[in-house]
Amino acid sequence: MTTPESRVIIVGGGVFGLSTALWLARGGYKDVTIFDRCNFNTNYYNPADGCDGASADINKIFRATYGSREHSQDLALEARDIWLEWNRAIKESHPSDLPRPLTPEDELLTLCGVYHLADGPTMIPRYVENLQVMEETAPSFRHLQFIKDEADDERRASAHGPEWSKKFHLFDKFKHGATNGFLDAGSGITLADKACVYARYLCQKAGVKFVLGHPQGELDHLITKQNGSDKRVKGIKTCDGSTHAADLVVVACGPWTAAVLPEAHRSVEATMGTVMFIDVPEDRKDLREKFHPDNIPVWRFIQGEGEGRISTPRTKYSPEPINTVPLYGLELMKQVIGGLFPELADIGFTDSRLCWYTDSIDNEFVIDYVPGYSDSLFICTGGSGHGFKFLPVLGKYVKNQLERVPDRFTPIWKWRTVEEGKQCNGLEEGEAGPREMSKIKLAKPQDFHFPVKGSSLSGRLQQLNVAPKEKSQL
Ligand SMILES: Cc1cc2nc3c(=O)[nH]c(=O)nc-3n(C[C@H](O)[C@H](O)[C@H](O)COP(=O)(O)OP(=O)(O)OC[C@H]3O[C@@H](n4cnc5c(N)ncnc54)[C@H](O)[C@@H]3O)c2cc1C
Repeated sequence: MTTPESRVIIVGGGVFGLSTALWLARGGYKDVTIFDRCNFNTNYYNPADGCDGASADINKIFRATYGSREHSQDLALEARDIWLEWNRAIKESHPSDLPRPLTPEDELLTLCGVYHLADGPTMIPRYVENLQVMEETAPSFRHLQFIKDEADDERRASAHGPEWSKKFHLFDKFKHGATNGFLDAGSGITLADKACVYARYLCQKAGVKFVLGHPQGELDHLITKQNGSDKRVKGIKTCDGSTHAADLVVVACGPWTAAVLPEAHRSVEATMGTVMFIDVPEDRKDLREKFHPDNIPVWRFIQGEGEGRISTPRTKYSPEPINTVPLYGLELMKQVIGGLFPELADIGFTDSRLCWYTDSIDNEFVIDYVPGYSDSLFICTGGSGHGFKFLPVLGKYVKNQLERVPDRFTPIWKWRTVEEGKQCNGLEEGEAGPREMSKIKLAKPQDFHFPVKGSSLSGRLQQLNVAPKEKSQL
């Protein structure tokens, strides 16, 4: 039985590890330690400085709509309140009281809006459901959502403020107007790296200890002890050869989870996501103004189907580094960005990365005791491309699962694996599937350039016979 007296080790200091530690420590747990192979003391979750976890990023989308997955919608709305509380606390802080590199001007969540767009003139069923559920369950948030091309919604958007009227019309001409969707003014963007830095600071204030960097922070293996039929995890051994005793080990290694805990390979899987960066130069004040969150919302565009996967992440910081991205995703981005914002195509991509999702068999999280270890080993992962927004609140419900206090998430997050003969989000395919990495066409250096004006990208996209869909739960 896990209690506040238990010695708890959490392996992984991304969103899942941080949030768990924060809620445990604030809930009276006296001995909680996070181990991570990345040295966040010096790199501050910066993806350009050695951090390749999914949480280490410049920004991540916050959206509140989840359609029939009402539990996720409620969790997002609960998280939203805390995000805004964190904003207030940071704003009111003296600069010297904030952890580097945060300043009182930093807003961890900016409610700049999220424009949900899709191909075709008729609203796709997912969006219809999103709006319907919001209407029934959180009408005050539905009031902040404006349906594209609807006159009444245009009036409501304008009444919300002049910037919202402009944002409402931003995509009118995209694809000759043949798109559908809605603008959600209650959602926006988070500063991902700084949010993790802040959550870590709150953890430290609450008494959580950190062991960071290679080799001392990197788990080599779990220490297990078999006593008759009773098998338990007794602690961890790190890559510097040290051993650390624990009553409970929580594995929160995101896409590396199955590499650390092989039992989990039929439960979660690493799937690659393409991230491209365009740095708008300091002297382009016009573009910096145009793309400022005051003037442009986050936008998501749903187009096409397909897949792409491998079980262990490879990044630019791996022993066998990779410095490219899947060609299909890159071409798609060039097509959409080049069509919508040619001024950004003129600047060109300034960096790229592979950022790895941790997909579960149903895109719900996996937060439970691992069977067979007498409640000494716990898994906390399965972000499935949409876990970041829950950073401030996730741990509250992780703690319930740890203490075996049943709640609405218990049946949804329970330990589960691929069921034979059933479609399980592609996990059932394993290495034989078409999305294994060696079967995906990767971009060559010349592919990163936008095409000269007037040439067609859509033709090139059609020629690519593999169409690897990247998970876009966000
Ligand atoms: C491309 C992409 C875009 C996304 N966009 C959004 C979005 O817009 N909105 C949203 O809400 N969510 C988004 N997500 C999802 C979100 O980022 C994840 O759900 C979340 O960050 C996962 O956190 P985590 O703690 O599980 O994993 P991670 O952040 O990957 O953390 C795992 C940690 O474990 C550590 N680790 C691994 N192995 C070891 C070891 N052996 N020893 C010690 N430490 C180890 C790693 O260093 C890492 O820091 C996105 C995900 C991806 C991939």
